[in-house]
Amino acid sequence: MKINQQLIELIKAGYSTFYLHTAETARAENLVAEVAKSLNFHVHEINLAQGKINFSNKSQIKENHGRIEQTLNDLLDEDLEQNLFFIKNAKLALENNPVAVARLQYLIENIERHYTGECAVILQSSEVYIPSDIEPFITLLEIPLPKESDIKAIMDDLNIEAEKQSKFITALSGLNELEIKKVLTLIKQRFNGFNESDQDKMLNEIRQQKEQIIAKSGVLEMVKVDHQITDIGGLENLKKWLQEQAHIVGNLEKAKAFGVKAPKGALIAGMPGCGKSLTAKAAAALFQQPLVRLDIGSLLGKYVGESETNMRKALAMAESISPCVLWVDELEKAFVGMSGNNASEVSSRLLGYFLTWMQEKTQPVFIIATANDITALPPELLRKGRFDEIFYVGFPNYKERQQILAIHLNKAKQKVDVLDLEEIARQCRDYSGADIENAVYDGVKQAFLANAAHLNQATLIEAISRTVPLRKTLKEKVGEYEKKFEELYLTPASHSDGLSIAEMNKLANSTNYLDRLKVANDPEVTEEILEKLVKDENFEVKKAAFSNSNCPRKVLDEQISIKEDNKHFNKEIRDIIVGHRNISIELVFELHNENNEEHNKIRARLLTDIAQRNDLSEKMQVVLAESNDRLVEALATNENLCKKAQLIVAKKDQDKLTWIFREFGLGFNTIKDLLAKNKGICKEAQLILAKDKSYKTRCLLARNENICEEVQYILAEDEDNFVLESLSENKNLCEKAKLILAKRGSIIGK
Ligand code: ATP
Repeated sequence: MKINQQLIELIKAGYSTFYLHTAETARAENLVAEVAKSLNFHVHEINLAQGKINFSNKSQIKENHGRIEQTLNDLLDEDLEQNLFFIKNAKLALENNPVAVARLQYLIENIERHYTGECAVILQSSEVYIPSDIEPFITLLEIPLPKESDIKAIMDDLNIEAEKQSKFITALSGLNELEIKKVLTLIKQRFNGFNESDQDKMLNEIRQQKEQIIAKSGVLEMVKVDHQITDIGGLENLKKWLQEQAHIVGNLEKAKAFGVKAPKGALIAGMPGCGKSLTAKAAAALFQQPLVRLDIGSLLGKYVGESETNMRKALAMAESISPCVLWVDELEKAFVGMSGNNASEVSSRLLGYFLTWMQEKTQPVFIIATANDITALPPELLRKGRFDEIFYVGFPNYKERQQILAIHLNKAKQKVDVLDLEEIARQCRDYSGADIENAVYDGVKQAFLANAAHLNQATLIEAISRTVPLRKTLKEKVGEYEKKFEELYLTPASHSDGLSIAEMNKLANSTNYLDRLKVANDPEVTEEILEKLVKDENFEVKKAAFSNSNCPRKVLDEQISIKEDNKHFNKEIRDIIVGHRNISIELVFELHNENNEEHNKIRARLLTDIAQRNDLSEKMQVVLAESNDRLVEALATNENLCKKAQLIVAKKDQDKLTWIFREFGLGFNTIKDLLAKNKGICKEAQLILAKDKSYKTRCLLARNENICEEVQYILAEDEDNFVLESLSENKNLCEKAKLILAKRGSIIGK
């Protein structure tokens, strides 16, 4: 039904007061005029600027000195029959004006008592403001947005040929009459009439203006789509589903003819920072459609009907922009506090309206609704059939974390192949995608500040350990979500071959030790579960829990601190944990200083371990470098060695060290040789070794592809032919060093 007919019917039925929520005063006036004409009412216009004015010629009847309560006072004793009071700027007039509100209430009550169906009040404002005293009398009305035919009529004087009009109509839809007229005037001024060669520019201009208008409306926002589906690490099930929907949307007519229904959209629920918003953006890119965001929180108004009105407005606008992807962000916000019989009325009306719209919408609007707190969503919404799919996004698993790391390292222009992603992914268990992204950018910043060529393993791992993962801060909530997810049988967004956290929790409490053992061995088991399983009565389970690479440092450190004479000491467990990657090296090192034979065996294990460890703290690196132990050899090969430790190693007096070892295929290597070969050698250490008395050390340094240009020049001047030969084999030799070598070619030739 048209709004004018609706209004006429309501007045006849005895409704006395209406609130026209619109900024389009001209349309509101037309509506009032039509209604008044049809009911044979006389219109009294009251506005804040001029007081009471003549509705048809706008001449002032009575000045009110900017005080609307005065004008309302004048009406109190009048005969109200066959009158329509049209109050403009209602919000400005009534807000903070109790006298005006009281007089308006008096007027309304008078109408309701003596003039039902014979008099009405229409309030108009661009913002809803309804004082609670008059709220029961008011019916909120929206002026609908212009339809295709209306837009066509407004566009008529632009003289665009009929077949070219449709693109303009689509671009203009979603705006009200006033906005359309304004945009068209701007276009006319700017382009001096319609010219085919300007068509794209004109459309672009309209879109830009529209983006602004949409943003100003406060209910929708156009989102820049700058993410692709390839920017999402993991979430394989969700990505596959989106690709299928994109195929259907791209071939919609064909699909419909075949009997396929147009896709409605998905609800993506789950952990914060795990890629829900990212997915909405990637979906729009995949569908090649604009993305509009609806923030449910911003819809919620304090007045009766305001939230629903806002929701209606937003959804109508989205339809008018279609085809588009509508991202309904933080869906749960609409339903906070809604549960069982106490369901708040607004929430259930909003839900009802949203569900009906989803069912009945005719325009191709693909919905991606996202929600963090799945427990706050009403069950009706989660029932199958409402959305095409309901996905649950959890924390990324081991494989996914590697993919997310690679994506963000690539984005940050870092070399991925120099890093051990498997190890890093292990270190960022419990991290959300957003946590991983933050850690990568933090690491990159540190690498830049340290003047490094690129981000290395140790810096990244340090950055990871500095980041407090979301899971830790949201521990309780996470458990709740995971349980709910299991209960509701939602579709997991990730593809996983292993157990879910909820399944692990269940098995960890099983009476069958084999179930508990399975969990203790699981590479994705949580720290909380392991903390419990290290105390298991079954020794196999206990050992497996301590061996698990996720076993938390706190537990391992506590265990290693148990002395041999303590009844809780267990040698087998101690042997397991000294080699564990999560244990504090400082504690193991202290243990070795006790210098007993048993501990020497452990020392040997530590030695090999240290050679590979890239997460050794700088403090510990220096402590180890200063020892006159074979540890130093292992340390010299560590590519993540800090500058301070490298300089200690580079200055070591080899003659004072009694130990040397034979490295396979390369003869005897001193610690300086090992450092010379080290890809992570710093410039200062290179400068020391470039002048080392051993030609072999200099040879190895010359072959190292990471040496700087200055060191290359020094080595190119070396007196030793072998050094020069080694340098000429270096693939990263700079032009100047090559030139020096060429000049000295005769020496090499000898
Ligand atoms: P919230 O509920 O807090 O809005 P969300 O689940 O919507 O969280 P996103 O905004 O999508 O999270 O993620 C934040 C950022 O984290 C993204 O911009 C992205 O850079 C990174 N990120 C999260 N998950 C992934 C992922 N699976 N792959 C790649 N990057 C990711």
